[in-house]
Amino acid sequence: MNSPIEYLTGISTLKGDLIRKELQVFTFRDLLEFYPIRHIDKTRIDPIASLSPRIEYAQVSGRIISIEIMGQKAGRRLVAMLSDDTGEIELVWFQGISWIQKMLQVGGQYLVFGKLGFFMNRPQIAHPEIEVYTPQKAGGKACLEPVYPSTEKLKTKGLNGRAIGKFTHALLQILSERDLPENLPQDLITRYKFISHFEAIRQIHFPVSEKHYAHALRRLKFEEFFFAQLRLGLVRTARQRSSKGLVFSQVGLLFNDFFNAYLPFELTGAQKRVLKEIRKDTGSGRQMNRLLQGDVGSGKTIVALMMMLIAADNGYQSVMMAPTEILAQQHFNSISELLKDMPVCVKMLTGSSVTKERRSVLKGCEDGTVHILIGTHAVIEGKVQFRNLGFAIIDEQHKFGVAQRAQLWKKNHTPPHVLVMTATPIPRTLALTAYGDLDYSVIDELPPGRQPIHTIHRFESARPQVMGFVKEEIQKGRQVYFVYPLIEESSKLDYENLMKGFEEVKSFFPEPAYWISMVHGRQTAEQKDTNMQRFVKGDTQIMVSTTVIEVGVNVPNASVMVIESAEKFGLSQLHQLRGRVGRGAEKSFCILLTGPKISNDARERLTIMVATNDGFRIAEKDLEIRGPGDIEGTKQSGLLNFKLASLVQDKAILEAAREVALKVVEEDPDLILAEHLRIKTYLQGQTGKTAWSKIS
Ligand code: ADP
Ligand code: MG
Repeated sequence: MNSPIEYLTGISTLKGDLIRKELQVFTFRDLLEFYPIRHIDKTRIDPIASLSPRIEYAQVSGRIISIEIMGQKAGRRLVAMLSDDTGEIELVWFQGISWIQKMLQVGGQYLVFGKLGFFMNRPQIAHPEIEVYTPQKAGGKACLEPVYPSTEKLKTKGLNGRAIGKFTHALLQILSERDLPENLPQDLITRYKFISHFEAIRQIHFPVSEKHYAHALRRLKFEEFFFAQLRLGLVRTARQRSSKGLVFSQVGLLFNDFFNAYLPFELTGAQKRVLKEIRKDTGSGRQMNRLLQGDVGSGKTIVALMMMLIAADNGYQSVMMAPTEILAQQHFNSISELLKDMPVCVKMLTGSSVTKERRSVLKGCEDGTVHILIGTHAVIEGKVQFRNLGFAIIDEQHKFGVAQRAQLWKKNHTPPHVLVMTATPIPRTLALTAYGDLDYSVIDELPPGRQPIHTIHRFESARPQVMGFVKEEIQKGRQVYFVYPLIEESSKLDYENLMKGFEEVKSFFPEPAYWISMVHGRQTAEQKDTNMQRFVKGDTQIMVSTTVIEVGVNVPNASVMVIESAEKFGLSQLHQLRGRVGRGAEKSFCILLTGPKISNDARERLTIMVATNDGFRIAEKDLEIRGPGDIEGTKQSGLLNFKLASLVQDKAILEAAREVALKVVEEDPDLILAEHLRIKTYLQGQTGKTAWSKIS
């Protein structure tokens, strides 16, 4: 199975090189896992007259009656008319014209497949898949022919999808069940009524029927999820066993004092549960690496704070890292305030801390006088040494990768416990996959008394009314955000847009009746901080900013969020921004302002935002619209590259596969039991293929 593809008859060194480069297919195994994108059922052909705009894809067969090159420059195209007994359809190519021209023949009979369009009421397929039509032999079987993706480069060298299919077919001829042995335990196969691994591989390429294909697909999807979850689980247990953890054995005075005297509210049930989960971990003697998910405003910070107090109760220091200076400052302020009457030393360190201050903070960390250090990335730099770091919190960041976590682990002879808190929820399927090497907690309940934020979408033309509404809110004593998109870090255009916006807001809200803060990426940390603080204190009623405001900032008196050019924002960003309001007792509003023309995707995003406040539902939708590869923070190579399974459509399969995988890991983390031999053999045959080693 690990033989290079050249070992297959018909693949020369030259072709082999091309296939490797273009398709990343190196070995027999890779070729078998290069799955068809669909199958053509050659027995099912649409009469051209029956085509209607309701049909998305069409498969037609007929004779080419004319070939013509039309248009100039960018409009240059090859147009072929195809005719069957019922009508005519236009086939159009904008690229590869000369090659297509050589290949097509007037009078030739072709089978054509593609996305159907209508132009002036006439059916048309642009860039169809096309091949010479060969009628099925009478009584011939295998009417489902696989279609493989190919590239332009491969096609010009005669390696179209069909040629790839021939290689795969040839390979399957010389392989037997011994080459593709069963890789799942028998009881699992029985329980799920799976066909064999060998059969599944055969049927996914050359299915005897649609039903056979469905069985193969179900089995192989399960395999993908199962082995992914299994690897993650094995990595997790191996790490847990090899790394000793610091033990927080007691809940001491600091925690109890805080809980009894200073905690300003009752914890929600979810917060209590998560605290318990973390405490169990930190008391277990193994190092914790946990992902804490919770919707915007669900109260993750207080959980983090209370854990830091337990760390201090046990003689350990804590560090809390925020993604921006603004947020670090805010955490520092609110935590210092909460702990002001307690014997806990809280300090802050950011990139812009002045030298003198920095030196004293560093010293305090080293000699142990600093109990809690809050800051930006600066806190995990090598220069920052702790006497006894026990607990590390990464706030508002699901981008914090393994490499960075490992940097933290080195900060003590026994690695500190690590809690990663997400900025906005990510769907469970994604979390379990992309962060499957972490343990997982979720706060799925908002503090009581929160009113849902009322969200509306308005077009630019309604700006005067929107401003009128904002004015009313300010007169009631509330504060308002205006947020402008930040397309590129410190881009000139964004800056100009922001300035234009600022002037516009100012024209509606002139001084001295109104005061405006402005925060953006081109300011110094000091300027940002001053402006932010004026807004936090209520000296200004309006905050105009780019998305630097996005994460975490907490101003409970702010009740209106106006998002300018809202069509330019992604869903999770919109949800994050909206989360800046609705933090106090007042009814809050989020106004999504857009230009008159918006794309369908953007419209869908706005509709979801208007329909729900639930971050978990929004995250699911985001995954549906964008696919897993684009979701922020999940671009970790290899982890989400499922070839057949989908994190959106195959949730049920994922859950089932995960459950089974967890059970295997729990019962037999070294895979020594006889019933796990197949699994072990399969995993060993796969090593080095994917980026799994990266996550361990
Ligand atoms: P996030 O999870 O988005 O980081 P925060 O931790 O900033 O949310 O909490 C949002 C707000 O809710 C803060 O003002 C915090 O003091 C408040 N809060 C947190 N937990 C509770 C609770 N159990 N009851 C009431 N208010 C709470
Ligand atoms: Mg937060």
